[in-house]
Amino acid sequence: VAGALVGVLFLQFGDYQCAKGITKEACSAIQDDSWAYTYFVNGIFDVGGSWFINALKMLMVPLVLVSLVCGVSSLADPSKLGKLSLKSIGLYLLTTAIALTGALTLASIFKPGVGMPVGEATFDASDKPPLTKVLIDIIPTNPFEAMVAANMLQIIVFAILIGLAITMAGEKGKRIGNWFNDVNKVVMELVNIIMRFAPYGVFFLIAKTFAEFPFSDLAGSLGSYFLLVIVALILHALITYGALITFLARLNPINFFKGMWPAMLTAFGTSSSNATLPVTMRCVEKNLGVHRNTYSFTLPLGATINMDGTAIMQGIATLFIAQAYSVDLSMAQLLTVVLTATLASIGTAGVPSVGLILLAGVLTQVNLPVEAIGMILGIDRLLDMTRTAVNITGDAAVSVIVAKSENELDKDVYNHPKIHTEFD
Ligand code: ASP
Repeated sequence: VAGALVGVLFLQFGDYQCAKGITKEACSAIQDDSWAYTYFVNGIFDVGGSWFINALKMLMVPLVLVSLVCGVSSLADPSKLGKLSLKSIGLYLLTTAIALTGALTLASIFKPGVGMPVGEATFDASDKPPLTKVLIDIIPTNPFEAMVAANMLQIIVFAILIGLAITMAGEKGKRIGNWFNDVNKVVMELVNIIMRFAPYGVFFLIAKTFAEFPFSDLAGSLGSYFLLVIVALILHALITYGALITFLARLNPINFFKGMWPAMLTAFGTSSSNATLPVTMRCVEKNLGVHRNTYSFTLPLGATINMDGTAIMQGIATLFIAQAYSVDLSMAQLLTVVLTATLASIGTAGVPSVGLILLAGVLTQVNLPVEAIGMILGIDRLLDMTRTAVNITGDAAVSVIVAKSENELDKDVYNHPKIHTEFD
């Protein structure tokens, strides 16, 4: 909240310097030249925020690799892994389909795109690889390359195989397993160090976004689109995850949201599920009591294949664009939207703005102009932050449900939430 307030103050200050009647571009040039933007928004906020994101990303690969190797190698019964994957992938697909259906229903009722002037929007869509390529690439040809590129699915596969091999290698495997456990402890301490700076990092990131956000663009149809996406995201988080936690896991949903709050804030600040992973893992273990054997697998997988918030944006944006262009989408086309948007998120990393690239794929499938993404581009940043918070909450909800069903959830921790700031 402090970050948002400071950001808006800076924005007001920047706008105040612009004489009436000058163009938006001229005004933002004046803003950028002002001391407030040079030293603060593009100075301290930018550097502080980027340091925080870089530090989180730095931990991502070692954390996923090491915790997953430890998780798999300490499974008493490795065949459990198959059950774990089936359950989590099934739940991930289910929540995404619910998210999309809800989004399409809301957008059909409120019709945010009707009356939106179709300008000369431009957007260059980069290519999204076809599903077969995504499937082929799951097996890394070079594990080190996978780590350098931070390719989450490839790292997951490699780590699972190493973990399984450790359990099969007898005495020697045990030694290596212990070594990974020691490294795991060290990596967790690294996360603790970075987390001390989390409040400042999140503050800088949020202040910078708000200082640059084009609030004036939110008038009219674009404002309705913006509001509708935000409302759909909040409803999905509260209702879908709340209901799943209550009915499937038979746990109190309030504890869930309380425990996830630090991770949600980090996701909001960073706009990246991947970068937030160290914080999500910590919240899920320390605040919700999920055992490492479950979350070390479900969370990295979720950060890559499960993006409910992104799916909601895609559903509403597709209908918004169709309405703006006065195109009526048939039932079959709506189903195509659900299918493409659900499948598209598999294999795409959770990084800022990736949702727009996925959206390009969905629009092409239903013959809508990809350049129309230009209409919503300017205001996407704040939506990206919010949907990332929903994305990681969905990953955590599935982790809690799967852990509960596998007896891998410490109910004492879950039922007595203390917001921990450190890994033990
Ligand atoms: N930024 C989102 C994430 O990392 C993806 C997106 O919707 O652009 O989860």
